[in-house]
Amino acid sequence: MEQLVLTGNEAVARAARDSGVRVAASYPGSPTVQILEALAEYEGLHTEWSPSEKVAMEVAIGASMAGAAALCSMKHVGINIASDPLMTFTFSKINGPLVIAVGDDPGQISSQNEQDSRMWAEYGFIPMLQPGSPQEVYDQTRLAFDISERFHAPVFVRLVDRTCHMSGSVQTAPAVERKPLGFTPDPDRYYMVPPFSRRARAAVEGRIPAVQQWIEEGHGFQEELRDPALGIVTFGLQYHIVRELLPNLSTFKLDIIWPLPIKQLKEFRQKVNRMIVIEELFPFVENHLKLARIDCEGKAFFPTYGEVDAGLIAERFAELGCREPIKPPLAASPAEAPRGAMFCPGCPHRPVMVLLRDLGIFCHGDIGCYLMGSYPPFEVLKTSVSMAASIGIAQGMAKALEGTEHQIDNIVSVIGDSTLMHSGLPGVINYGYNLHHTKLLVLDNRSTSMTGLQDNPITGKTVRGEQGHAVDIETVLRALGLDNVVKVNQYNMGEAKKVFVKKFQEEPGPLAVIATGPCALKYKKKLNYYYVDPDICTGCRTCIRVNCPPISMRQYAHKPAGELNSHIDRHRCVGCSVCFQVCPVHAIKRSNLNEQPNVPAPVDWNL
Ligand code: SF4
Ligand code: SF4
Repeated sequence: MEQLVLTGNEAVARAARDSGVRVAASYPGSPTVQILEALAEYEGLHTEWSPSEKVAMEVAIGASMAGAAALCSMKHVGINIASDPLMTFTFSKINGPLVIAVGDDPGQISSQNEQDSRMWAEYGFIPMLQPGSPQEVYDQTRLAFDISERFHAPVFVRLVDRTCHMSGSVQTAPAVERKPLGFTPDPDRYYMVPPFSRRARAAVEGRIPAVQQWIEEGHGFQEELRDPALGIVTFGLQYHIVRELLPNLSTFKLDIIWPLPIKQLKEFRQKVNRMIVIEELFPFVENHLKLARIDCEGKAFFPTYGEVDAGLIAERFAELGCREPIKPPLAASPAEAPRGAMFCPGCPHRPVMVLLRDLGIFCHGDIGCYLMGSYPPFEVLKTSVSMAASIGIAQGMAKALEGTEHQIDNIVSVIGDSTLMHSGLPGVINYGYNLHHTKLLVLDNRSTSMTGLQDNPITGKTVRGEQGHAVDIETVLRALGLDNVVKVNQYNMGEAKKVFVKKFQEEPGPLAVIATGPCALKYKKKLNYYYVDPDICTGCRTCIRVNCPPISMRQYAHKPAGELNSHIDRHRCVGCSVCFQVCPVHAIKRSNLNEQPNVPAPVDWNL
């Protein structure tokens, strides 16, 4: 037993390790990325970044079938991808325990939607737990393995963005060893075709009632009776908020959030005058209580979208007369300039977006850092839906508008290397199979950068840094039927422009361009930097439109007041040369790292 300070994600990893996990697989997605990264630090178990959540789930299922303890982690939208194997596997009486750590994202801090994973739990006959502190994450993940083993069922641990990233003290419990039991063929459990799957379907009906009975014997909840005027049913982070803000109220805390201890909740309702459910997103608990004829309120006070944070809880209970209103937060300092997300200095996606914008090419976007190409000053990417959707969406849109007054010529799907490997290859097959003529731009930056610079099948490096097989994108595209494929180094913007004009505006599709430039953040290289000569700069702001953080418009002492010229913060410039290449009057110049150019500094430049 140890006392540790862990984040929620690290607590999942430590609990999985202490539960005897032998195989863990994931696809990186915020907020759960660090679970696998933390697990990879431990010896004695297999960890992998799979090419997609579906593959990760299949790897975990295989381990479970072999009688080993397995962990699969992903963000909430990953469950959509993984649901195909999961929603069949869950109908079987599983062998080794399988826990799925899923990260929901109320408030959409880093996600394209806000789906509520509790729906998968009910739909899939899968028990689910939801912790609210790192200690609870550890304890409940351990409990999840026990429940999985006891009921031969996959079990979800539902996290949210805040729980994943908060850190706190964790007391670990003694580790257990779970040796693989081995695989024994059994069609009723592992061969899901009729008639075996029909028998499995009937058998799974008894799972949730059995788990519920066990819960109702006193597991996975805590009733805390205080003032009987009002009882709060809640769980996860919201339980801790309620305890802090409303210490006198009676609470019913759920650790296991599916199935529910209906018997005890009914009894709790008898002990309080009024019952309010606090839960983020869907009224899942509230609806189940109402189905059980338990009188309660919930979404009358709280929204069905976004986070339910301390401020909102305090506000609602102040309206109910339970506490004083919280003081309003301090107004934002006027010195704080609002700034949206932007590409890093030296990002290889920047010159691509500059060229696509300036050439007026119609693009569909995908999931990755390049989605910032949809924001000003680029506004290049017109759609973004889900992983690798850009290819099929472009194909469908082109076919729908072909021959009409709305026809769009030369539609390009813009997709990153990791996303292409995740689920883009079937879309690539569809070019040739269904005679589509749209075009593909693969941004090969050798990294899954948006989630924290993970490796992927393109680099071939595993999560532990071993070198596996590196997939060659050009070879794969050609093998799948795209014959017209070229590579271009987008940092050479003159050459890249010629290629983009030829391929995206002149030649018929289908075709692919692979833009190859390493992620600036991952492969840090700084050979030189660029600076502005304010006496040549005309203040045209063309360089500002590449939207690189080190570039700003400044006042120089020897220039008339109000006449601004460009300036580059040399300490942040990584020397990619994109601004240098777009400046029409050659006011931007290159300097070696050890040289100090002889140009005036802006008046407000204090570094
Ligand atoms: S593009 Fe060149 S001339 Fe225009 S503002 Fe930037 S440095 Fe000055
Ligand atoms: S050279 Fe220009 S575009 Fe590239 S990192 Fe430096 S300031 Fe940014």
